[in-house]
Amino acid sequence: MQETYDVVVAGGGNAALCAAITAARAGCRVIVLEGAPEFYRGGNTRHTRNLRCAHDGTAPTMTGPYAQDEFLDDLYRVTGGQTDKVLAELTIAKSRELLSWMDEQGVRFQPPLGGTLSLGKTNAFFLGGGRGMLNALYRRAEALGVTCLYDAPLTALTVEDGYFVSATVKYQGRELEVRGKALVAAAGGFESNIEWLKQYWGEAADNFLIRGTPYNRGDVLRMLLDKGVAPVGDPTQCHAVAIDARAPRFDGGIATRLDSVVFGVMVNRECNRFYDEGEDTWPKRYAIWGRLIAQQPGQIAYSIIDSRSIRMFMPSIFPAVEAGTIRELAGKLSLDPGALEKTVNEFNAAVKPGTFDHTVLDDCRTQGLAIDKTHWARTIDRPPYYAYPLRPGITFTYLGVRVNEESRMVMAGGTPSGNMFAAGEIMAGNVLGKGYLAGIGMTIGAVFGRLAGQGAAAHARN
Ligand SMILES: Cc1cc2nc3c(=O)[nH]c(=O)nc-3n(C[C@H](O)[C@H](O)[C@H](O)COP(=O)(O)OP(=O)(O)OC[C@H]3O[C@@H](n4cnc5c(N)ncnc54)[C@H](O)[C@@H]3O)c2cc1C
Repeated sequence: MQETYDVVVAGGGNAALCAAITAARAGCRVIVLEGAPEFYRGGNTRHTRNLRCAHDGTAPTMTGPYAQDEFLDDLYRVTGGQTDKVLAELTIAKSRELLSWMDEQGVRFQPPLGGTLSLGKTNAFFLGGGRGMLNALYRRAEALGVTCLYDAPLTALTVEDGYFVSATVKYQGRELEVRGKALVAAAGGFESNIEWLKQYWGEAADNFLIRGTPYNRGDVLRMLLDKGVAPVGDPTQCHAVAIDARAPRFDGGIATRLDSVVFGVMVNRECNRFYDEGEDTWPKRYAIWGRLIAQQPGQIAYSIIDSRSIRMFMPSIFPAVEAGTIRELAGKLSLDPGALEKTVNEFNAAVKPGTFDHTVLDDCRTQGLAIDKTHWARTIDRPPYYAYPLRPGITFTYLGVRVNEESRMVMAGGTPSGNMFAAGEIMAGNVLGKGYLAGIGMTIGAVFGRLAGQGAAAHARN
């Protein structure tokens, strides 16, 4: 390629497109290098449904209001304070602009949702899901003259003294060098790279299922770290949820997630409970279960419920295992019938009377168990009984590159890079030291994507 672009964007998901559109609107010549083929463009963003944003309650697509302070409290709670305070506040302050900005780019939202997800106040849902949202962003980018190359994975980066010079991509069987005045790295985490996951999780990673794209292998992240960009985040931390163990290895998406946990008990393959299933409302706690299951023998667990709960949550695409007794259920799951019956009987005996309400932190709890269930505890005694086998479903990893308030990468010595910016999963670890809040992945991608696009454009024009 002969020409030098103003802004080279690595990746083709939400963060990449927000950056590309912003830079193009600022008058820049922009190229998006998407590693996946066109049909699979957009990485994990394809699977999303919503983004979280602070708002004053006037948006027709959300119930509300959701104040910045409340959002910040929620973030501190789930991360246990492990977040960069300045970047966390910036994310939340800038989240207020996202609904109108997305709307300007052609993204449409649906009316607020009720039901078991309890997200209508905090999260705006894309009409047509993540794919609908992505299609709107790609249409907008193309209309602004952005060049999009598909099936064009970055294989190398030329960086001199923290300064981006060019990217090498494999394209149509050849290696191309794409030069640019600024780089935006938005190529996701390393969640699909099982060998890399094994460095931290050992052989257990062989039992992980990857919920999203097989293309997020962390190649760009690795290149940047090798070129001296400062790392951020604990490599063992990731967003991992409980998903149906029958899901495919990659790209199972949202249809394999299971929200049944709060309605019954979770047991490991020894039929022991291992965590409080009723600790907090599902949007604030669903993301701990993947990690918890990863720590169980064989990385498998079973959600056990009865007929009272079977219609109270979004089902998996796979049917529940059904039986007339707990012993029979255990047999169908290849578990020890006596052990499962004992765990369920002990649980039932410890349930205290209360008024069940799954939309609030109700007063239904157990008392006297080694691990009590602190809300939504009801006896499991109404046949038929149901179970779902669950495995860790890795959504995305938190090890990333350090950035500053301009979304500019920071080098290992502490100096900001001259012209390299990052957005999305590849830098989410700056905000998410651990834990997760539903919808904040897209918020981080959009907020830092826009900042990265602005910063890259300002650099390119100077
Ligand atoms: C099933 C599922 C459901 C989710 N639901 C939600 C939700 O509702 N709300 C929410 O906020 N978050 C959700 N998330 C998380 C969300 O998907 C991510 O936080 C968000 O999409 C990250 O955006 P991104 O642009 O950083 O990464 P991605 O959208 O994953 O994009 C990364 C891009 O980089 C490309 N790439 C990778 N390597 C290379 C390379 N070497 N060269 C060039 N390109 C490369 C990939 O092909 C991809 O296009 C969900 C994730 C999954 C898996």
